[in-house]
Amino acid sequence: MDVGSRIRSAVPLRVAVLGSTGSIGASTLEVIAASDGEFVPFLLAAHRRTDLLLAQARAYLPQWIVVLDPAAALAMDRTGVPAETQVAVGPEALDELVQAPEIDRVVAAIVGAAGLRSTWAALEAGKTVALANKETLVMAGPLVMELAERSGGTIIPVDSEHSAIHQALRAGSADEVVRIVLTASGGPFRLRAVETLVSVTPAEALKHPTWSMGPKITIDSATMMNKALEIIEARWLFGVPAEKLGVLVHPQSIVHSMVEFIDGSVVAQMSPPDMKLPIQYALSYPQRLAGVARRFDFSQSMHLEFAAPDPQRFPAVGLGYAAAARGGTCGAVLNAANEEAVRGFLEGELRFTDIAEVCARVLDEHPFQPDPSLDDVRRLDAWARQEVVKWACV
Ligand code: NAD
Ligand code: MG
Repeated sequence: MDVGSRIRSAVPLRVAVLGSTGSIGASTLEVIAASDGEFVPFLLAAHRRTDLLLAQARAYLPQWIVVLDPAAALAMDRTGVPAETQVAVGPEALDELVQAPEIDRVVAAIVGAAGLRSTWAALEAGKTVALANKETLVMAGPLVMELAERSGGTIIPVDSEHSAIHQALRAGSADEVVRIVLTASGGPFRLRAVETLVSVTPAEALKHPTWSMGPKITIDSATMMNKALEIIEARWLFGVPAEKLGVLVHPQSIVHSMVEFIDGSVVAQMSPPDMKLPIQYALSYPQRLAGVARRFDFSQSMHLEFAAPDPQRFPAVGLGYAAAARGGTCGAVLNAANEEAVRGFLEGELRFTDIAEVCARVLDEHPFQPDPSLDDVRRLDAWARQEVVKWACV
């Protein structure tokens, strides 16, 4: 089989990359560059790193760049903007631009709760969104899925586990699914003595054994809060109850997730750990294209391990199950508390083990609402952050 051949589309797919200066953003631009004109960047948006955004604009010549932080936009040297490119500033401008009819696919790769509004705007306009920003579904899963349904928008997951599940689900029908198993690398502290986790430093937690990612998700991988968020993401994205979702620690990060069907068949998606593959899948779906991502070398022997996560080492996983089962405002509160706690840990205000502890407390004490509006979600997001700050001060 010639793996280099593919069916070319008649017209290029025009892509908006939200969070282009991040880890997923940079990998997306690599996928675009390797696509031989199949994908072209229409818009690049970033928060503060205008030097990198300008370098990307000069390399990719998008129609638009959007600087989300007004102060950074003010300080930006506009002589570096290519003649082909227009500049817009601030989140409101992005909300409007992301709905432009010229955009075929939106890569939502802003980190954290800040990614919700532009993802929402894209879906409102009926766009197909390649979703890396899992926080959108964690915070407001039912509202986001309902919006997509109403507007004709589509979400294709970029998160490697959810991309794997999306691919595996193509092997059967929804009523044939018994269980979905998300895999997790276990991060850098899978084997470290549990009683020493309290003294983990940010530098230690930022060293991930198999994936190279932005700082927030790297800390989330070390606590396994990332898996908690992914359980909630899967619950809404695939419409499966929490009890049908399992988690296994798989240190090799080769099997990205699995789906078990009623006949006992388990369909897994495997590939070397490289986010360019799920990004490309989300851009080319329902087609597959010759890949830019790393491939297996089957001449090397391969060893795959799976184990249940230890609840003492990774208490965050239980919070994910609880939030996915109870729904309502739980996802938004857990997400916001975690974002604030991760910031606190990276800035030396909280210990590593405080992250899950404070999240559990805030989740437990929050004024639960079963059927929140987007305003309720935003209000409780702000409330949860305040609670973490208060907790850190005592
Ligand atoms: P990153 O920190 O490397 O990049 C974040 C991007 O978001 C940057 O472009 C930055 O400019 C932008 N940004 C940051 N704060 C912002 C704000 N307040 N307003 C607007 N834009 C802002 O993060 P990443 O690792 O690329 O992750 C991006 C998203 O993808 C996250 O939601 C993460 O959970 C998800 N994800 C990442 C990976 C990975 O391998 N990196 C894998 C799966 C899912
Ligand atoms: Mg993931």
